[in-house]
Amino acid sequence: MKRFFITLVGVIAMISGVYFFLHHRDNSNLTADNEKLQVVTTNSILEDMVHNVGKDRIELYSIVKRGTDPHEYEPQPSDVSAAADADVIFHNGLNLETGGNGWFTKLVETSHKKLGREVFAASEDVEAKHLTTNKDEDDPHAWLDLANGVKYVRTITNVLKQKDPKNASFYEDNAETYIAKLEKLHQQAQSKYLQIPEKQRLLVTSEGAFKYFSEAYHITPAYIWEINTEAQGTPEQMKAVLSKIKNSDVKHLFVESSVSPKSMDKVAKESGLEIYSKLFTDSLAKKGTTGDTYYSMMKWNIDHIYNGLK
Ligand SMILES: [Zn+2]
Repeated sequence: MKRFFITLVGVIAMISGVYFFLHHRDNSNLTADNEKLQVVTTNSILEDMVHNVGKDRIELYSIVKRGTDPHEYEPQPSDVSAAADADVIFHNGLNLETGGNGWFTKLVETSHKKLGREVFAASEDVEAKHLTTNKDEDDPHAWLDLANGVKYVRTITNVLKQKDPKNASFYEDNAETYIAKLEKLHQQAQSKYLQIPEKQRLLVTSEGAFKYFSEAYHITPAYIWEINTEAQGTPEQMKAVLSKIKNSDVKHLFVESSVSPKSMDKVAKESGLEIYSKLFTDSLAKKGTTGDTYYSMMKWNIDHIYNGLK
């Protein structure tokens, strides 16, 4: 009997879901918005990049909410319907959304979309770095080097132009202005850290998200775990990071805004170093706060890492 009721409730929920979906579609057919390109991004960093190029000429929906981890995610009904309606879906690629539980692969399948047709990896022109624990797996965090961020923006722009040729010059103009701003910040960051003695230039974070960043801006990365999809804060990981800290003259630790601070608190306690500030790696800050755009998260990271290390 109980099982019957659960099934009944399920069927009713499904029917009302389909009704609501169709009804909603009927209404949106009447609005001018429906002529706009429907774009979906997997996370807030890509959302902001796409917004800078497409502005008000596209309809934009982003899946993983701000402050949460894009490596592991469970798509919600609204994500599934946005993906099904999308003309274009941008994901990071490099194993960000397809590692761990592989949520994005399932979403693409459910929404009947195809890689290269509607689905594009913003990172497609980036030279991938690999995980040290698993050489076959890409490290996804390429956007933390602004030169790669520029490559993402160019890829996004080319796709938008191709899917919506009538607005091509609008997208192109926006992209050029935006890229010039990102390139300026990249150049400023490139020489910034060289003023700090090398033994102090150790960037300690929870996840090893700073491989691309470190190479671009002359920092040595240290971390508790290499990628969020693996075990977090095991005794071996703690021991390894504490020994790196001990062999350096590093002054502060950092913690990312989209992970639990528990493990880094432990490192702080055991090393006697303080956590200087949060950093933004896999997510932007909530809208209206510092770090709520790709430019502003990168500027925050560059400035706070500098002040915490010097
Ligand atoms: Zn990450």
